Amino acid sequence: LLILLAYVTGLNAQTFKSEAKIAIQQKVNKLLAKMTLEEKIGQLNQYASYKNATGPISSTGNMIDEIKQGRVGSILKVNGVADTRIYQQAAMQSRLKIPLLFGEDVIHGYRITFPIPLAEAASWDMDAIGFSARLAATEAAASGIQWAFAPMVDISRDPRWGRVMEGAGEDPYLGSRIAIARVKGFQGNGLGSLDAVMACAKHFAAYGAAIAGRDYNAVDMSDRTLWEVYLPPFKAAVDAGAATFMNSFNELNGIPATGNSYLQRNILKGKWGFGGFVVSDWGSIPEMVNHGFVKNNSEAARVALNAGSDMDMEGRSYINNLPILVKSGRVSIATVNDAVKRILTKKFELGLFADPFRFCNQQREAAIVNSPSIRNAARAVAQKSMVLLKNEGSLLPLAKNLKTIALIGPLVKAKKDMNGFWALPWGVAHETEPVSLFEGVQNKLGGQTKLLFAKGCNINDTSKVDFAEAIATAKNADVVIMAIGESYDMSGEAKSRSNIHIPGVQEELVKAIQATGKPVVVLVMGGRPLIFNQTADCVPAILYTWWLGVEAGNAMADVLFGDYNPSGKLPITFPQSEGQIPIYYATKNTGRPLINDNDRAYKSAYLDVSNTPKFAFGYGLSYTTFKYSNLKLSAKAINNLQSIIASFTVTNTGNYAGEEVAQLYLRNRVASVTRPVKELKDFCKIKLMPSESKTITFVINKQKLSLYNQQMQWVTEPGMFGVMIGSASDDIRLVDEFELLKR
Ligand code: BGC
Repeated sequence: LLILLAYVTGLNAQTFKSEAKIAIQQKVNKLLAKMTLEEKIGQLNQYASYKNATGPISSTGNMIDEIKQGRVGSILKVNGVADTRIYQQAAMQSRLKIPLLFGEDVIHGYRITFPIPLAEAASWDMDAIGFSARLAATEAAASGIQWAFAPMVDISRDPRWGRVMEGAGEDPYLGSRIAIARVKGFQGNGLGSLDAVMACAKHFAAYGAAIAGRDYNAVDMSDRTLWEVYLPPFKAAVDAGAATFMNSFNELNGIPATGNSYLQRNILKGKWGFGGFVVSDWGSIPEMVNHGFVKNNSEAARVALNAGSDMDMEGRSYINNLPILVKSGRVSIATVNDAVKRILTKKFELGLFADPFRFCNQQREAAIVNSPSIRNAARAVAQKSMVLLKNEGSLLPLAKNLKTIALIGPLVKAKKDMNGFWALPWGVAHETEPVSLFEGVQNKLGGQTKLLFAKGCNINDTSKVDFAEAIATAKNADVVIMAIGESYDMSGEAKSRSNIHIPGVQEELVKAIQATGKPVVVLVMGGRPLIFNQTADCVPAILYTWWLGVEAGNAMADVLFGDYNPSGKLPITFPQSEGQIPIYYATKNTGRPLINDNDRAYKSAYLDVSNTPKFAFGYGLSYTTFKYSNLKLSAKAINNLQSIIASFTVTNTGNYAGEEVAQLYLRNRVASVTRPVKELKDFCKIKLMPSESKTITFVINKQKLSLYNQQMQWVTEPGMFGVMIGSASDDIRLVDEFELLKR
């Protein structure tokens, strides 16, 4: 009976949803019929808001008038109920009273800053990642926002590119799982809920593959790589219900993404059936003139709209040019109508027509935004985001009763850096609110341990004048904790670097401190994989902390002193040298694979550096150890209508409770197109008490065995598949194989 009831309720919910959809479409059509051409084009126009002492203003100064004339559909960079209300009131004075949409870069948290997205990706914890987005959405929605310009689902295999900090790393499978978690987190119970914001999958597409890692640079990529590596997270975002997409600054194979109808019309809105709308990236429509793709702004508008870019972010190309383009017949009204309908549909779904001020509730804002429970959650996510790279002799966790600890390095007392790039503009809050490492350790240990501090050098210093004081400080301590790395503004948009070594003399400082003979733990902070070979080779304990948000210092202290056992795994490969870039685990075998580093002659290798990374994708240690055993495949051969179940046991063989991310990689041995040596196809994060064992099962289905064949059709091909299960891409513990038979 219960099942029947659930079924009927499910059906009812479905019918209700599709009825609501039809009702919204009717309302959209009715409204559209009343709109003038100018009002339609206004809906496609998005401006940024700036703020001065008098409150929010526009870049042209007269935005309020333009809103009243129906010339603005959406605004970005307004925060707070009071300010959004000012603009929405103006919209309510326009002829048709069409409400505005407020968008914002809710990249990692809203008022309370969470770990940067790449750090969260290192948790491999979909619940934590989804929850982080959920809380950010809850705060943003309570603050007048309906639209997050996130998640960034761009795959990147180039740590020179500063925006790796904003994504989920190098892998299409992990990236897709995280895309789903984030989209669902932002959109919660669906548009219309008061704590949901629209997600925006960006940047469509291939932005993360900018040549040589230089931001905004051209992208030149085979269709195969596009479909296998760069598109899957976008497809996953569509399937998860992402309400919007953002296109991107880059060209793809000679065609700017913003003017690319293959991407936006054929793939996104055609093949994938995406029903939401696409916003351009900031000014990316007029930038097509610089690309040399169109001769002027008017052409830019025509090409972008025809290619499927529905909304113009801060480019003024649509508002200035579309009226004439439509009147002269160079852009069809049907194309304009389609874009307008997509945008209006979302405004209806959000409930803005029913009540344009429903996100403008001051009590709700006061109760939700910046609340302690969200801050606690930020600490929990930060704990999960750190990756323990080295822990020789089990130096970590440190005892809580040490007499004296020296904290040394330029980032020990840093606060603003903890929030990383893309923290929202809360002004002085970023200088005061984040917990530094020093404060975190102080909070943890109270007064019983003496804490010494020496900066040693600044991040970019080339001088060693302060080394002597730092060395003297170290000598007075039982243990030294060091914090080195990048500053918050060295990774992010337009923050590409050709040299990704830890800047300045920081590594020399580490060397000098280590020469004192004191036990040294190093925390490396940054927004991307950094290179620190000297430290990595010589220091016994290294924790990679990325940028962890406002609770950074507390979370770091939790890990350093054993209140949280680190469980993160790298979502991106760490190179040994910039010359290895692009470097990623899912590489091809080649005809001349390097099997043995001592036999490199005429092998696919470098003369001056090995092929292996410094730290591999999927790698990360724990304070405990895990044993993998007893791999069983449910069959030795299947046809492509069947699945195989791989089951195995993981046992905690150490002394601490801990979490492990077990990873499944497959290798298609021989196919009509060459396949990577390993492809992540599943993973599972489990918690085990000391001596506890758990059995994990992975289902290997047709989807996981498929490939794009020579005709770029998504098919399975009969053949042998290698199964590899392990703790990292370079730490495979169990192997087997099976055959996919001809059907
Ligand atoms: C970035 C986008 C961002 C937009 C709005 C652009 O420069 O590429 O990711 O959403 O600005 O701030």
